Amino acid sequence: MVMAADPAGRGNKAVFLDRDGVLVIPEFRDGRSYAPRSLEGYELYREAGACLAQLKAAGFLLVVVTNQPDVGAGLVDRRDLEKMHEILREALPVDTIEVCTHTAEQRCFCRKPNPGMLLQAAERLGIDLARSFMVGDRASDAAAGAAAGCQTAFLDLAYAAETPPEHVDFRATSLSIITDWILARDSTFGAPQ
Ligand SMILES: [Mg+2]
Repeated sequence: MVMAADPAGRGNKAVFLDRDGVLVIPEFRDGRSYAPRSLEGYELYREAGACLAQLKAAGFLLVVVTNQPDVGAGLVDRRDLEKMHEILREALPVDTIEVCTHTAEQRCFCRKPNPGMLLQAAERLGIDLARSFMVGDRASDAAAGAAAGCQTAFLDLAYAAETPPEHVDFRATSLSIITDWILARDSTFGAPQ
């Protein structure tokens, strides 16, 4: 359900969430995380439900933005991807799931670090990006969030082969710490300095 814009005339606020490593337990290979390739390996983090419920209660739209190049490359079946997202929608109060199935070689505008998925969802759902947040576990998530004009939080899972983002508004090692930060930031938004 999409909420009406607030009385001050601002758009909706949203939290954009990367999928793998943030909501879904990723597969770890060679010091990096990857999307599970089958339903057998597909499992949500236990803390995700409580975190998203808190964000929802604070009035945020919850938008999943996920690169799934394995679908474009034929390594993940499109029907499995749909089933994975059905499970996610049933378990968590997300408003929409934006998916980019292109490979890096296709150079599309929707694949993070580009902000296309965030901008499209913002247009469709009337989202005020400056009041919104992007949460992810890779530098490309932070880059997409910053390019869209959102505040950014980096979930640091200590990937050996991944360079953490240089510029990010907040870093933490769990989604619950990031949730607390977002709620604190949101409560001071627009307040006199
Ligand atoms: Mg990720």
